[in-house]
Amino acid sequence: MFDIDSTRLHSPFRTGEHQQWRAQLRRFVDREIAPFIEQWDEDGSLPADLWPKAAGIGLLALGYPEPYGGIPGDIFHTIVAAEELARCGAGGLYASLMVHGIALPPLVHYGDDALKEAVIPPVLRGERNISLAITEPGAGSDVANLQCRAAPDGDAYVVRGEKTFITGGMRANWFTAAVRTGGEGFGGISLLLIPADAPGVERRALSRKQGWWCSDTASIFFDGVRVPRENLIGEENAGFLPIVHNFNGERLGIAASCVEYSRVCLQEAIEWAQQRRTFGKRLADHQVIRHKFAQMLQRINATAAYLELCAAAEQRGELGVADVSLLKVQATEVMEFCAREAMQVMGGAGYMRGSRTERIYREVRVNAIGGGSEEILRDLAARQMGI
Ligand SMILES: Cc1cc2nc3c(=O)[nH]c(=O)nc-3n(C[C@H](O)[C@H](O)[C@H](O)COP(=O)(O)OP(=O)(O)OC[C@H]3O[C@@H](n4cnc5c(N)ncnc54)[C@H](O)[C@@H]3O)c2cc1C
Repeated sequence: MFDIDSTRLHSPFRTGEHQQWRAQLRRFVDREIAPFIEQWDEDGSLPADLWPKAAGIGLLALGYPEPYGGIPGDIFHTIVAAEELARCGAGGLYASLMVHGIALPPLVHYGDDALKEAVIPPVLRGERNISLAITEPGAGSDVANLQCRAAPDGDAYVVRGEKTFITGGMRANWFTAAVRTGGEGFGGISLLLIPADAPGVERRALSRKQGWWCSDTASIFFDGVRVPRENLIGEENAGFLPIVHNFNGERLGIAASCVEYSRVCLQEAIEWAQQRRTFGKRLADHQVIRHKFAQMLQRINATAAYLELCAAAEQRGELGVADVSLLKVQATEVMEFCAREAMQVMGGAGYMRGSRTERIYREVRVNAIGGGSEEILRDLAARQMGI
C-alpha cells in the first residue's frame, strides 16, 4: 500500500513536538471526523458539537494567548492542523471549523481587554462562533471600496449595508466586520465587532455552491444595527492595516491545505492505478501514468519546500507579501494540477461522487479566489519586485 506520509520531505523546522501533535490530531480526525465527513458534506453542515470536541483537544485554542484560554503553539503546529484536517478532502471542514482563525486575530492584536475577555475564551472553548465579514456584493478583491457604513450616533455606531460570501455566517455569534466610518478609500475603514443577534441583523444562507458544502456561507444584512462604540477593534479609520495583517496567516493556512489536498489526490490516484487493470496490466505499469505521479510529487515537493521557508520566515516575523502571495498562488496551482491528473487517472470512476479527489476537484476554484485571488496576488507580488 502506497503511504503518502513517506513522501513528506524532512523539514528542519519541525520537531518531535510537531510529530506528536500530528499523531494526536490524526487520531481525533480518524475517530471524530473522517467516518462522517462525506455525509456532513452531502447534508450541507457540520454538527454543532464538533466545535467543543475540537476545543477538547486544543485545536481551536492553538497559538492564542494563554490569558484568554489559548495554548502555546507555533506556526508549524498551525500548519500541521491545516494538513491533518485537509486529509479528509473536504475543504468546508477547515473553512468552517477554523474560521475563527481569520476572524479572531484582529481582536487579539488590536482589540481592547474587555472585548477580548468577552469574546475570545468562549470561541476557543467552542461555545461561540465568530466570522470575518469583509466582502460585499460590490467589493471583493477591491476591499478599499467597501460601502457598508457605520455612522456614529451617541455612544453607538449605526450600521447599514450588506456583506456576502461570509464563511460560518449562519452560525456566527459575532462578525468581525469591515465598515466605512470615514471617507472613501482604505483610510476610511474600521473594524467593528457586530453581535449577530443585534436587532437589524439578518442573514441568508448561500447553500447552492460548487464545493465546501459542509461549510455554511451567508449573506449578512445590516439595517440600522446599533453597535456600542466599545466594539470598535483598534482605531477608527485604521481598520485596513489589521485586515492586511490578517492575510499572512490566512494565506499560509490555505497554502498548507492545498498542498495536502494535492497529496490526497496523489494517494487516491496511485491506489486506484495499482488495482485497476487495462490492456493486460495494472494502470500503474503504464509509463504515461507513472509519469503523472512523478510530476505530481515533483510539484507537491517544490511547493511544500516553499511553504516551509515561508512559514519559518513568518515565525521570525520576516515573511514578505510577495512570498506569501506567490506561495498561495503556487499551492492552488499544484492543487489544480493534482486534482486534474488524479481525476484523469481514475477515469469514469473519478467522475462519480464519493471520492475525496472528486470533492477536491470541485474545491479548486474557491481556494484560487478566496483569501486573495491569483490575479490580485500576482499583482501584489509584482509590485514588491520593484520592476
Ligand atoms: C465559499 C466562499 C467563502 C468565502 N468566505 C469569505 C469570508 O468568510 N469572509 C469574507 O469577507 N469573504 C469571503 N469570501 C469572499 C472572497 O474573499 C472573495 O470572493 C474574493 O476576495 C474575490 O472577490 P469577488 O468574488 O468579489 O471577485 P472580484 O473582486 O469581483 O474579482 C473577480 C475576478 O476578477 C479578478 N480581478 C479583480 N480585480 C482585478 C484586477 N485589478 N486585475 C486583474 N484581475 C482582477 C479577480 O482575480 C477574480 O478572478 C468567500 C468567498 C467564497 C466563494
